[in-house]
Amino acid sequence: MILKKVKMYGFKSFADKVEVDFSEGITGIVGPNGCGKSNVAEAIRWVLGEQSAKSLRGSSMQDVIFAGTDTRKSLSYCEVSLVFDNTKRIFPIEFDELVITRKLYRSGES
Ligand code: ATP
Repeated sequence: MILKKVKMYGFKSFADKVEVDFSEGITGIVGPNGCGKSNVAEAIRWVLGEQSAKSLRGSSMQDVIFAGTDTRKSLSYCEVSLVFDNTKRIFPIEFDELVITRKLYRSGES
């Protein structure tokens, strides 16, 4: 199974839309402590159905939504998508890509 891309909006520190491409070869995510590297791994776990806010380092699930900073307002929802390559028809659908998305609003609706 090939994970081609992760798209994030409003998840933890990702206030802007971010796309991480896992094209051929190895993709490395590099940055200083606390810049959000672990948030990328958590975003992937979250889409795949993580139900424990604690294991995502929060106290409630809404803690994964961008909480704002001194200069930027918080967001009302977050959304993460995983894009899988399906050219080998690993998933039984007639499309070359499969996208799985999870979205959560502050109201709790998801
Ligand atoms: P380390 O190398 O120590 O593991 P890291 O680079 O992996 O750190 P993370 O721990 O993934 O970084 O990211 C932490 C950052 O994400 C912190 O700056 C924290 O304030 C920010 N953050 C986490 N949740 C939210 C949120 N809901 N809204 C805004 N920022 C958030």
